[in-house]
Amino acid sequence: MPSPTDQQPAALETLRRIFGYDAFRGFQQEVIEHLAAGGDALVLMPTGGGKSLCYQIPALLRDGVAVVVSPLIALMQDQVDALTAVGVRAGFLNSTLDLDARRAVERAFVAGELDLLYLAPEALGTRGVQHLLDQGRISLFAIDEAHCVSQWGHDFRPDYLALSMLHERWPGVPRVALTATATSATRDEIATRLQLTSARHFVASFDRPNIQYRIAAKREPKRQLLALLRDEHPGDAGIIYCLSRASVEKTAEFLVDNGIAALPYHAGLDAVTRARHQQRFLREDGLVMVATIAFGMGIDKPDVRFVAHLDLPKSVEGYYQETGRAGRDGLPATAWLAYGLTDVVQQRRLIDTSEGDLAHRRNLAAHLEAMLALCETVRCRRVQLLDYFGETAAACGNCDTCLQPPESWDGTVAAQKLLSTVYRLDRERNQRFGAGHCVDILLGRVTDKIKQHRHDSLTVFGIGTELSEAEWRGVVRQLLAEGLLAVEGDYGTLALTDTSAEVLGRRRTVMLRREPARKARPAKPRGAATVVAELAPAAAEAFERLRAWRAATAKEQGVPAYVIFHDATLRQIATDAPAALADLSQVSGVGEAKLAKYGEQVLAVLADGPHPA
Ligand code: ADP
Ligand code: ZN
Repeated sequence: MPSPTDQQPAALETLRRIFGYDAFRGFQQEVIEHLAAGGDALVLMPTGGGKSLCYQIPALLRDGVAVVVSPLIALMQDQVDALTAVGVRAGFLNSTLDLDARRAVERAFVAGELDLLYLAPEALGTRGVQHLLDQGRISLFAIDEAHCVSQWGHDFRPDYLALSMLHERWPGVPRVALTATATSATRDEIATRLQLTSARHFVASFDRPNIQYRIAAKREPKRQLLALLRDEHPGDAGIIYCLSRASVEKTAEFLVDNGIAALPYHAGLDAVTRARHQQRFLREDGLVMVATIAFGMGIDKPDVRFVAHLDLPKSVEGYYQETGRAGRDGLPATAWLAYGLTDVVQQRRLIDTSEGDLAHRRNLAAHLEAMLALCETVRCRRVQLLDYFGETAAACGNCDTCLQPPESWDGTVAAQKLLSTVYRLDRERNQRFGAGHCVDILLGRVTDKIKQHRHDSLTVFGIGTELSEAEWRGVVRQLLAEGLLAVEGDYGTLALTDTSAEVLGRRRTVMLRREPARKARPAKPRGAATVVAELAPAAAEAFERLRAWRAATAKEQGVPAYVIFHDATLRQIATDAPAALADLSQVSGVGEAKLAKYGEQVLAVLADGPHPA
């Protein structure tokens, strides 16, 4: 086995020659050297950080075949296509293969004619696959999406629990587990369950500086969404998350009616439709996917320009993972969430009615509270997010609270008014009502319900006219977020909590967030339109021609466009306008295989232009 000093050039040489990149990112090189030398590793890197190369390059440096465990059966073909495109020998085994194809991959594995073999975790549990693996030579095990082993997590896959057997059955084979999501508690859980506690841990910063985080008050969510798409992301690919299948369908329909190419995706669609929609999203430019969280894990489409949430995610971890699917290519992207009082009420109700024991419900509630705290913070969103993952950061300048700082105001008196309304209804009348009715009482509105219950005789009736209805709803939301108020039951009625008394007894001040005034002018586009706008006219024109060539080539080969070249690579080619293959090979993302395969075509596309550079 070569010594580490010999490997450094080997790793870098492989990066340059095969993948066409100049330099390693972050600690990629350290992970690669550690694995190549036979060590075990746990790698935590944000989405888009470059985890794949951490095992792909060691797979090329070590003897034998690297076995990659991934839960993403539907994406294995694309992963293998992307590797094949750069000249790496890769295959996969899963239920989508017919017998002949399966046999061919098995033979290639045993003969050592593969560099990487992708497997689903459930396959590893089968005798047949274990027997197959015994017949070949395994260079390393890579366990992708390792957070799936976490039972408290949102992507738990029971089959992952069995992966600890890899260590027992093939003790000499190095293992690397990789994930983009983990608080320190989840990280410990992964290490324990996969028997990687003595492995070296590589933990990158989780920051995604190119993603702009924004959380807006929900008013008319569909209209707000449409404005975001039209004003900032025309023609861009993006993902929109909704909680329910019904709202996925409705939102997709609404977008299509408004001229936006959108597709629905949820577990209620049959498998064929789901696979077709996913394929189209990956392969075509500028499609919008409206989905439940059933969609997205492992989607490594690099040019997703926005991720929008129309409903409140259940946890910060889920939110961060979902938003992390935007901007893997490092170009500007938007994470936008619309959030309102009904979200809080709905999520609380889901938790109250969820199956599982008290510990489980407490865990869900703690996750929700962290998510609410993020929504209601007056701090930089990124600071708050990274704080959640145990990192300290400075205000980022690229989130809504940095760009338009919300004011905070002393809401103690308002909180007291609201809480005493709830108190009086409860104690004097033995009644509980939802937020809307409580706000009506505070505003002194004589509605039918007020008349019916004679709530206009309450001492709190009409004592809150200094705030608008929207502001009162903000007060309710924030008190809920801080646990100073609770919602209960099927009707989402308000109730006091143990800490409410601190506010009512003036022992606690309550600072609240005031929504910044709405922007008068729409923000400028940040997506594909910007990418083109930032180029000189001749380069922009060349970029469009290259994109058209790429779309045609991708279609012909039945692979996603980014498997041919990434946007960032096309943009660089358009800017540099290389005249010879040697110049083209200098562009990041152009390796040996792609140069040989597409070099002449790219030069021809460039030379063909109306304005030769
Ligand atoms: P992850 O799996 O961590 O989300 P990927 O492995 O898919 O990220 O990498 C994200 C993108 O960054 C990919 O398009 C990949 O080709 C690119 N990339 C990774 N490492 C490098 C590097 N050292 N230089 C340039 N691009 C890189
Ligand atoms: Zn910020």
